[in-house]
Amino acid sequence: MLHLPHYDDVCAAAERLHGQAHRTPVLTSRTANQELGAQVFFKCENLQRTGAFKFRGAFNALARFDAQQRRTGVVTFSSGNHGQAIALAAKLLGLPATVLMPLDTPASKIAATKHYGGEVVLYDRYRDDREQICRDLSEQQGLTLIPPFDHPDVIAGQGTAVKELLEEVGALDALFVCTGGGGLLAGSALAARALAPQCKVYGVEPQAGNDAQQSLRTGAIVHIATPKTIADGAQTQHLGEYTFAIIRREVDDIFTVTDGQLVDCMRFFAARMKLVVEPTGCLGFAAAREMKSEFQGQRVGVVISGGNVDLERYCALLSA
Ligand SMILES: *Cc1c(COP(=O)(O)O)cnc(C)c1O
Repeated sequence: MLHLPHYDDVCAAAERLHGQAHRTPVLTSRTANQELGAQVFFKCENLQRTGAFKFRGAFNALARFDAQQRRTGVVTFSSGNHGQAIALAAKLLGLPATVLMPLDTPASKIAATKHYGGEVVLYDRYRDDREQICRDLSEQQGLTLIPPFDHPDVIAGQGTAVKELLEEVGALDALFVCTGGGGLLAGSALAARALAPQCKVYGVEPQAGNDAQQSLRTGAIVHIATPKTIADGAQTQHLGEYTFAIIRREVDDIFTVTDGQLVDCMRFFAARMKLVVEPTGCLGFAAAREMKSEFQGQRVGVVISGGNVDLERYCALLSA
């Protein structure tokens, strides 16, 4: 039996994060409202510490370590943002961090992780089994593994963003959440079910990797090959045990969007809202735009999950 986190755990995480994570702004845009025919509220986790919501789950998980775990430290694997988040959270809590990252991780993410004091170990994402390398490290050196999404404390921490959103703007009719391994979506769903029970909760993933959609629709975790998409934060091969159990129970549906739609959204955020948003961070809004006929006149929440993207890559994507 899995011990799934509940909304109480999201509340406890919010207390641990108080004064450590930013309470990120909720922004609105007349242009977005006009385009969608709805009232849209953007929760801007691209403005979170380390540039993504991942700091919430990472800090919450490390804050729960006992004295022994703090001494030996943490190990994790990450396509970037979770690695940075673990490195900063570990630094703030005074414990050592080892971060496994794919060789093709954007340079800015590797540099930032090192900058925060994390030790970086690179691996080949198309050939190596990162979870096995991580398990070896944790067994040999006694490090505690905190994975990027499939962990109750990580899920509870990620849920604090939507808790803040709903406390600030009140109930919503629909909520769109970027989805990779499902930690953000699962945590968001826990918060939404408690604070806005009628709100439809939707996950959004890249069309090239719709494993979460297939999983929700078939009722079992579907595994896929690493998808080729510009949404590098959502290049996951499958949902986790914990995340799937919550998503299956709480999430209304999962949609997909193309890389081209993500680029259109990056351009929108830059031009209209003066926000730098990474491709993965655009998943939620891209789907909301696509489905606008479904919620005319309604109140719609969109989580912008992160803003970490190399500037050269950002410019290349926008000018293509
Ligand atoms: C990790 C990440 C996601 C996906 O989060 P999951 O909890 O794995 O579903 C989405 N956007 C950004 C910017 C991320 O860093």
